[in-house]
Amino acid sequence: MPENQEPHVTQKFVYDFTEGNKDLKDLLGGKGANLAEMTNLGLPVPPGFTITTEACKVYLDSGSEPPALRDEVSAHLDALEEKMGKKLGQADDPLLVSVRSGAKFSMPGMMDTVLNIGLSDASVAGLAAQAGDERFAWDSYRRLIQMFGKTVLGVDGDLFEEALEEAKRARNVSTDVDLDAGDLKGLVEQFKGIVSERTGRDFPQDPREQMDLAIRAVFDSWNGERAKLYRRQERIPHDLGTAVNVCSMVFGNLGPDSGTGVAFTRDPAGGQQGVYGDYLANAQGEDVVAGIRNTVPLAELETIDKKSYDQLMQIMETLENHYRDLCDIEFTIERGKLWMLQTRVGKRTAAAAFRIATQLVDQGLIDETEALRRVNGAQLAQLMFPRFDESRTGDGAVERIGRGIAASPGAAVGAAVFDSATAVARARAGEKVILVRRETNPDDLDGMIAAEGILTSRGGKTSHAAVVARGMGKTCVCGAEELQVDLRQRRMTAPGGLVVEEGDVISIDGSTGSVYRGEVPVVPSPVVEYFEGRTRPDEQADELVRAVHRIMTLADGERRLRVRANADNAEDAARARRFGAQGIGLCRTEHMFLGERRELVERLVLAETDEECEAALAALLPLQKGDFVELFEAMDGLPVTVRLLDPPLHEFLPDLTELSVRVALAEARGEADEDDQRLLRAVRRLHEQNPMLGLRGVRLGLVIPGLFTMQVRAIAEAAADRAAAGGDPRAEIMIPLVGTVQELECVREEAEKVIAEVQQARGVDLKLLIGTMIELPRAAVTAGQIAECADFFSFGTNDLTQTTWGFSRDDVEASFFTAYLEKGVFGVSPFETIDRDGVGALVRGAVEAGRAARPDLKLGVCGEHGGDPESVHFFHGIGLDYVSCSPFRIPVARLEAGRAAAMGSGEGSDSR
Ligand code: ADP
Ligand code: MG
Ligand code: MG
Repeated sequence: MPENQEPHVTQKFVYDFTEGNKDLKDLLGGKGANLAEMTNLGLPVPPGFTITTEACKVYLDSGSEPPALRDEVSAHLDALEEKMGKKLGQADDPLLVSVRSGAKFSMPGMMDTVLNIGLSDASVAGLAAQAGDERFAWDSYRRLIQMFGKTVLGVDGDLFEEALEEAKRARNVSTDVDLDAGDLKGLVEQFKGIVSERTGRDFPQDPREQMDLAIRAVFDSWNGERAKLYRRQERIPHDLGTAVNVCSMVFGNLGPDSGTGVAFTRDPAGGQQGVYGDYLANAQGEDVVAGIRNTVPLAELETIDKKSYDQLMQIMETLENHYRDLCDIEFTIERGKLWMLQTRVGKRTAAAAFRIATQLVDQGLIDETEALRRVNGAQLAQLMFPRFDESRTGDGAVERIGRGIAASPGAAVGAAVFDSATAVARARAGEKVILVRRETNPDDLDGMIAAEGILTSRGGKTSHAAVVARGMGKTCVCGAEELQVDLRQRRMTAPGGLVVEEGDVISIDGSTGSVYRGEVPVVPSPVVEYFEGRTRPDEQADELVRAVHRIMTLADGERRLRVRANADNAEDAARARRFGAQGIGLCRTEHMFLGERRELVERLVLAETDEECEAALAALLPLQKGDFVELFEAMDGLPVTVRLLDPPLHEFLPDLTELSVRVALAEARGEADEDDQRLLRAVRRLHEQNPMLGLRGVRLGLVIPGLFTMQVRAIAEAAADRAAAGGDPRAEIMIPLVGTVQELECVREEAEKVIAEVQQARGVDLKLLIGTMIELPRAAVTAGQIAECADFFSFGTNDLTQTTWGFSRDDVEASFFTAYLEKGVFGVSPFETIDRDGVGALVRGAVEAGRAARPDLKLGVCGEHGGDPESVHFFHGIGLDYVSCSPFRIPVARLEAGRAAAMGSGEGSDSR
């Protein structure tokens, strides 16, 4: 053995339920870990053992089970048989087991559980004799062949279902409980025939072989298509593997004093404590959720079997106190004895998450820091979208016609249109439209932009429609497969045959995936009403608003990161402030140059003499100043970072092609217009192949004399005005797109002169800061030098992502991102969540170098990532001072900044 290799330690692949605990989910899967936890709490769990995810990984890597596994399983099976006093499949009194998959995260697409393993032609009579119930034994056997045939041997399940239906028809009964032992015995023969015919082999009679095949099938199901798809969509790593649980059987199908059920310790929709669940007598396993017979509400169990009911209530209380959270459970009653078959911390709606977190604090079960961990920014964002008034969806005028994947939240109403051109045309005419497609592709982009929302009948959460809609913040429901979209006839058909023609109004709910025909009224979110200050979080407010208020207060108390807004005007600034912004991290001055001011900019760019140039600037100055005065007033007392002009020049100039045509036509007519010709010369001169990499940002400031100094003067004078009016303006001047410190030095020197002039003229000390955006890799790499000349850095992570990856956001999200997401190149778009290893590493390096050069350097981020939960944790971890994001994201950023502090997020930790 080479020296540096660890000596081989024998790995343990099988754990008895008594050996595990709830913190071993990586190894035992969620189900196994919690079965162990319940066992050790002394709750009635049928004995069993768990085969680890490690064993699964070995199997998946090497193509066969680890050599030691068989013996280890045998040893645990022996112990189980010992404990139960009978052997697996023993003819006169068989031990039966279930084989159940269970990964770390619960995952649809994994193999279904197989119950009653160990039954065979030989042992079915023994089971009947032991139970004193022949019908039960044959019912269990036919279930085994059915489940095993379908999930382990891959036989089409419908074949069994049809045979079962046929048996009921022949008997003229409507449910399976009405079939007698003879009927079921007949079915067993039929089922065995189906298996032989379809697989070319007989149903295995050896109990151990049944068990081993089922275990292997669970391993294999990890790489089933459905499971892989689900993992991609939920960003679950592909290398976790699944555990397998082998659990001795208990029987809910032993007659009316038996049954099976599911329960929640509190309402997963509203959060209230109470008795929530369903129960089905004389049933096994999935019967209760499969809808084969009508279940009864759990509360009725009290009259059916008071003893079991009381015990169940007690156990639910134990579980809640132990897990200190909402739990969901599966249980079975066998002849009056209660058995616990599963528990886990239950899924809940966003509203319930906030309610439950605060309720648990009040009950003293968790502390406030823990309450912060129990909610997240994605849930808060959900609660902030306007929603459909659900009470108005069933009144005839409105009808739910389908459900798809909730791909991008929001509530959108509009006329259904079936192609992009129609969407654009109708939207131009002032109509609200929903773009309906089978799936979208880059050609649909204009239509998607024009539409209120997007509905597709195909594709999942990483489909083109979903990715692009999320990027645009537009409502989207995708993969609504029950809707037949007919693009040629321009209509879609719902399952009931109901037809939606082009122009008919539909409503789509991107938070639930529901699709309605007709207009569902939209109501504002009560949570937004609270943030807006229109609802006070007092006793009269609804419980959700009070819960959100408490959690936000906690988050604000915990967080170290400050939160600012990206806002360009006083109105946005005021809203941001109501939402809790502590300043403006990015005020773009671009829009201040549009509209009627565009002409002034044109004059500036085309100026051929100093006088022309100065005249244009002089005309712009008061307009700019006016904008800033309003902004500083709205953010009085808080910092406002103003970015000097950034966009590429062509945005201010006429389109080259259009202008060329105009000039050419005029010349052909002999009516050449001299202004146009001059304009055309300038546009040609300034035309760029790659404007985003061209003359913009600080380059523009250095090339057009007077432009930046005019902006600086406007800022300084506005600040002086505000100060004179008794205000407290705190302006920060930000230079965009700096790549080298020399650029910044040039601008800074000029700016300081202007500021000094204004200060002297007005007799005030304005305390203006001058800093830069870090949005080019070169700037990040030379941050130490740049910091010598900057009072602050603001990381422009949108541009930094574009320039680091070398792709343009506008182009790539609509073209190849879908393929990249599907192939797993990205788990998520790097424009949505910061790419820690690449862009994040540049930011981290710049933070370190910047602080080393200048310890008091202020550090913030102003890209979209400032409002993304995952990214906020990263920015907290690397020690930024603030994040800045769009006004609507501010509560999310506050919450996540608080959570990051409470969870002690390092730069490597995530927000889950
Ligand atoms: P899922 O992950 O789909 O919940 P489970 O492994 O929990 O799958 O099992 C499916 C059904 O079979 C559940 O209703 C469960 O309670 C029931 N079940 C599983 N194991 C046993 C057992 N040993 N005895 C009785 N019922 C069982
Ligand atoms: Mg289950
Ligand atoms: Mg930028």
